Amino acid sequence: DITERKRTEEALRAQAEAEAANAAKDRFLAMLSHELRTPLSPVLHSVALLNEDPNCPPSMRQDLEVISRNVQLEARLIDDLLDVARIRNGKLELQMQWVDAHDLLRNALQICAPEVRARKLVMTTDLGAEKRVLLADPARLQQIFWNLINNALKFTSAGGEINVVTRTTPEGNHIEVEVADTGAGIPPEKLPRIFDAFEQASKSSGGLGLGLAICKALTELHGGTVAARSGGSSRGSTFVVSLPVNSAATVPAALDLPQVDPPEATPLRVLLVEDHQDTADTLQRLLIRRNYKVEMAGSIAAAMEVAKHFSFDVLVTDIGLPDGNGVELFQDLKGRSANGEIYGIALSGFGMDEDIDRSLSAGFEHHITKPIEFAHLHRCLKEIGAKLETKRELQAV
Ligand code: ADP
Repeated sequence: DITERKRTEEALRAQAEAEAANAAKDRFLAMLSHELRTPLSPVLHSVALLNEDPNCPPSMRQDLEVISRNVQLEARLIDDLLDVARIRNGKLELQMQWVDAHDLLRNALQICAPEVRARKLVMTTDLGAEKRVLLADPARLQQIFWNLINNALKFTSAGGEINVVTRTTPEGNHIEVEVADTGAGIPPEKLPRIFDAFEQASKSSGGLGLGLAICKALTELHGGTVAARSGGSSRGSTFVVSLPVNSAATVPAALDLPQVDPPEATPLRVLLVEDHQDTADTLQRLLIRRNYKVEMAGSIAAAMEVAKHFSFDVLVTDIGLPDGNGVELFQDLKGRSANGEIYGIALSGFGMDEDIDRSLSAGFEHHITKPIEFAHLHRCLKEIGAKLETKRELQAV
């Protein structure tokens, strides 16, 4: 009847509105992260340039260390926001491979080691799990461990203890990684919601309250669980991650393969298109120091001009340019080049999976999210250089 139909229509409209609002929020998060990330790149590049200067005094190196650490922290917060957006949309993708949980746990411990020393904490480990090989995304698994250890550090004051233990469960099909501290503890009424996004036991700690929510979602995506317990305020906290392990106790042979560095290639000619002047300048200086031949442009129109007299091997371009899109620029330049032999690297502040997919399907070899870690760009360029070299050798035959 009529009232029933009206109710259904209203419910459908409300649902559509809610979905539109959600989509708008995701777009906003992506935009926000872009705007927040962009200014971080030139800061990191300038730090790298100063650090490379042999005349840089040691005291200044310490300051540079502070700048670089804090910029990276900022980037981490932005990444967390993006992760939460991805998790909420079910769009977080894992790159699964066989890993040894202890390797990743050791990496996480190593990252935290300077902080342990600086904060005068006592760290003990007992990595006793026998079965520890599992199918996991190594970066994400390390993120889970790092997050718990980092929280233990954050909420424990000088003289406190942190104890990291691993064990195989009695039935033999799970590894448990336990991070226990003697710090601030968590009041019982807060415990049930501690893994919810934006939840904090006290507002004084800084941070966004996203770490544990991401930790839980990542653990569950790996088929595991995470739990917290605490004796209450200032009685310390214990977090336990439980993950399914492979029944074979040894690491599959594939893991033992030595890492091969891509061979050194001849210097490449690079057309760098970036409208953020500071980012462009610092990147150009870093590239020239590595013997690349670099020409710069700040827009599509300028890039087309430069391309008339400069033949180049690789286009490194920002995706969002003042007069258009880097993807179109790449396709345009490819179409105009004599043999179509141009490689592309996309730079952008958009780290959403769709953005990365879009550039890769447009033919870019790599998509680098800002802030650009120069070593990463350098690796990508070296890889392209090696490809080009092989191609030239084949043509010479
Ligand atoms: P953030 O640390 O950014 O606030 P998290 O999601 O990592 O976000 O943690 C949420 C809250 O859980 C923290 O604000 C803190 O109140 C509590 N918490 C997490 N780990 C610990 C710990 N080891 N000891 C005491 N409290 C903790």
